[in-house]
Amino acid sequence: KGPDPDMVTIAERMATIKHKILVLSGKGGVGKSTFSAQLSFALAELDNQVGLLDIDICGPSIPKMMGLEGQDIHQSNLGWSPVYVESNLGVMSIGFMLPHPDEAVIWRGPRKNGLIKQFLKDVDWGELDYLVVDAPPGTSDEHISIVQFLQATGIDGAIIVTTPQQVSLIDVRKEISFCKKVGIQVLGVVENMSGLSQPVSDMRFVKLNETGDQSDVTEWALSYIRSNAPELLHLVSCSEVFDSSGGGAAKMCMEMGVPFLGKVPMDPNLCRAAEEGRSCFADQKCAVSAPALRKIIQNL
Ligand code: ADP
Repeated sequence: KGPDPDMVTIAERMATIKHKILVLSGKGGVGKSTFSAQLSFALAELDNQVGLLDIDICGPSIPKMMGLEGQDIHQSNLGWSPVYVESNLGVMSIGFMLPHPDEAVIWRGPRKNGLIKQFLKDVDWGELDYLVVDAPPGTSDEHISIVQFLQATGIDGAIIVTTPQQVSLIDVRKEISFCKKVGIQVLGVVENMSGLSQPVSDMRFVKLNETGDQSDVTEWALSYIRSNAPELLHLVSCSEVFDSSGGGAAKMCMEMGVPFLGKVPMDPNLCRAAEEGRSCFADQKCAVSAPALRKIIQNL
């Protein structure tokens, strides 16, 4: 029996891609797609040729986070063309193929695997420095497929995104053990939503009354600060949100013997950049989250 022709085609496509990075999470909603999107923006801003492949088939949020909602994929004689944010940043997602963004994708494993295989076989990435793969949360069929299809051509490793709470970290341990079982290097773990950071000038202030109602006093509070202590407007408030008394991701990484890449705070301006499909690095307002992300990316 000769080699599987699909695997041969995938190997040919992947031969022009220098680095392949998987972005994983144990749970949904921890910021995996946000990280994948911002990692891709950052790598492209460093003059790399970057591809971002979204295989989160049931919840593709990458088109929106890259500012590409409503775009279509074009086909050429070389295959499916990615949708480009910039000439050096291309994106592929099932989100581009759905007739309506509200459409639910209810597919069983084999069909999902078929699409992942097709993405790897048919997308014409051209020469890439980096292919970032945004995987669905957990360890499901899609993970086994992508690993199986890509492993023969080499995967640099996986970055795992988590929040600091135990409930998320428990699932990250499973994700790490999945990587170990299938022989994928864990490049490291990112602790996202690690506290809440906000410039004082962006904060909203409320007064609580006895009935539990709130009245907004932001204007009064900010004008008081502006008149009496304007230097406070340049401070950033940092609050713990989730319970990290268990030591958070850093401690878990020590126990599991994998690198800890760093913390990214919860930042309403980062959320806004993601919602609007922008890079946070050009947004002066992402004063804490953008440098934190940049440091993590530099340490990779
Ligand atoms: P996942 O891919 O893990 O399901 P998302 O990346 O879709 O998670 O993030 C879930 C939501 O949280 C999105 O609205 C995103 O913009 C927001 N978000 C993620 N990380 C942060 C952060 N550090 N600060 C503020 N909002 C964030």
